[in-house]
Amino acid sequence: MKYLANFSRILRDNSAPTKLLVLCSLSSGGLIAYAESPSDGDRSVTKNPKETQKKRVVVLGTGWAGISFLKNLDISSYDVQVVSPRNYFAFTPLLPSVTCGTVEARSIVEPVRNMIKKRNGEVSYWEAECLKIDPVSKQIFCRSSVDENLVGNNDFSLEYDFLVIACGAQVNTFNTPGVLENCHFLKEVEDAQRIRRTVIDCFEKAILPGLTDDERRTNLHFVIVGGGPTGVEFAAELHDFVYDDLVKIYPSVKDFVNITVIQSGDHILNTFDERISSFAEQKFQRDGMEVLTGHRVMSVSDRTINMKKKISGEDVSIPHGMVVWSTGVGTRPVVKDFMEQIDQGTRRILAIDEWLRVKGCEDVFALGDCATVDQRKVMEDISSIFKAADKDNSGTLTMEEFQDVIEDIMIRYPQVELYLKSKHLFEVTDFLKDVYGNDKKEVNIEEFKSALSLCDKQMKSLPATAQVAAQQGMYLSRCFNMRKQCEQHPEGPRKFRSGGRHEFLPFQYRHLGQFAPLGGEQTAAELPGDWVSMGRSTQWLWYSVYASKQVSWRTRFLVVGDWTRRFVFGRDSSRI
Ligand code: FAD
Repeated sequence: MKYLANFSRILRDNSAPTKLLVLCSLSSGGLIAYAESPSDGDRSVTKNPKETQKKRVVVLGTGWAGISFLKNLDISSYDVQVVSPRNYFAFTPLLPSVTCGTVEARSIVEPVRNMIKKRNGEVSYWEAECLKIDPVSKQIFCRSSVDENLVGNNDFSLEYDFLVIACGAQVNTFNTPGVLENCHFLKEVEDAQRIRRTVIDCFEKAILPGLTDDERRTNLHFVIVGGGPTGVEFAAELHDFVYDDLVKIYPSVKDFVNITVIQSGDHILNTFDERISSFAEQKFQRDGMEVLTGHRVMSVSDRTINMKKKISGEDVSIPHGMVVWSTGVGTRPVVKDFMEQIDQGTRRILAIDEWLRVKGCEDVFALGDCATVDQRKVMEDISSIFKAADKDNSGTLTMEEFQDVIEDIMIRYPQVELYLKSKHLFEVTDFLKDVYGNDKKEVNIEEFKSALSLCDKQMKSLPATAQVAAQQGMYLSRCFNMRKQCEQHPEGPRKFRSGGRHEFLPFQYRHLGQFAPLGGEQTAAELPGDWVSMGRSTQWLWYSVYASKQVSWRTRFLVVGDWTRRFVFGRDSSRI
């Protein structure tokens, strides 16, 4: 409400700086939005839908989800505005490489305005943070992150017909004392640059004359909290940086360097195949890194990190020179506030349905790390499904009746297909035989329920990865592009509860595998079809996949150039 009051004050304000802002905006690219606003002092950016004849789409965020949505959206059908405090897209999988100078920060970012230019400038971009979403008036309230000393107010609002929330997540400290004050995070490009400078600082401090050996050892103790893919990759990068490059320029402190990975679970990389997880642990051990599994961090001070051993409850403290906190993600305040308004306040993460629509809110979609698909259980609808399938109202389903609905069931409830795969039943007819047996001709509701009862156990939430975010962005843009066509000719599965068909097919995630770079030109990978690959050849696969996945030829050249430079000259240790 504070923001709303603030904004209504702003809307009443008709001051000169606003006029200047209008002029500046127009001269820098003809932003019609301001020209059409009702009064000079009105900071709401309103495009009249009747004049444009296009629905207004507002996108929050220029990360994986937002950019993938924008790249594939048919902008001739929509009036698109993008709000993000970050005026570039960052290729996050290469952030760990930026921490050690393997690639430069500028090589992994693409300016948003370059992308807009490619779309003939038909998308408006506002460098600002969304502070509040008001789903009732269909408005968002924003504050520009541009230098406060420049003239003009930084606050404005936008109206939308459709809102796409793709503002990612923030670091999660689990309220652990001292983490915010004393740890580094690895979420943004600036974080990676800060880590790079701190690593160099630790070495420069450790070689100063007059320090005791213990002090040198403390300064050169690098601790990574979190043994997930990001933490492990950073540890591996750091190890390579230290032992390939830094020990050559700081030989006197070589023996004082220590890298520790702390993991609360029993293994690092525990979301990967067991073989990868144990390969990583063995490699880290061979490289001289310490892996402390089963330790929960209780607090972090500027000098020490305090933990509890999970098995024995024993308290353990270790000194550190630098701590990088990499333990997962949490919900951003603007999303939390929005969740409270739409009765999702008790949830940890914003719930969306299989069409990526925010539950309990019309015309708002959410993608990527900021939301999770709250998949519907097949057992919740089992009676409606049975009723819809039992065309002759006989109280039993024949083989034909079952066959008629099973395809729709598998599309609407993807867990059913996963269940079939887990039982190695690849054809619908195999499933029918499994349910009916070879002789049985009909099933009643109880038998039908028991056939599908185990399917919901296959439901898992999607991981917070770039792969999921990018696929969701692409899926949603396709839905937007086909909106008119699908309103007339729905393409989705049948609606078992209310009748008719869904307009679109629900979102289906295709897992294309994942990499875990482990340093020393070795990478482990989980590839589609449950393949596991580890070693140097996988590192080359990693290079080629990551080069091909760059969002532009410019970044592709820069990244490959950086890798080549690193091979020839090593990493740069300057503190800039
Ligand atoms: P983001 O990419 O985080 O983008 C969010 C956007 O929203 C940003 O532009 C941000 O500025 C903007 N924003 C934030 N707040 C607001 C606001 N209030 N208003 C408007 N805009 C806002 N995934 C993989 O699949 N493979 C990997 O190898 C991999 N490696 C990773 C390594 C690191 C170091 C990190 C941090 C992540 C990695 N990930 C990886 C995960 C991946 O980066 C995320 O899952 C992905 O970025 C999520 O995309 P997103 O669009 O939801 O959010």
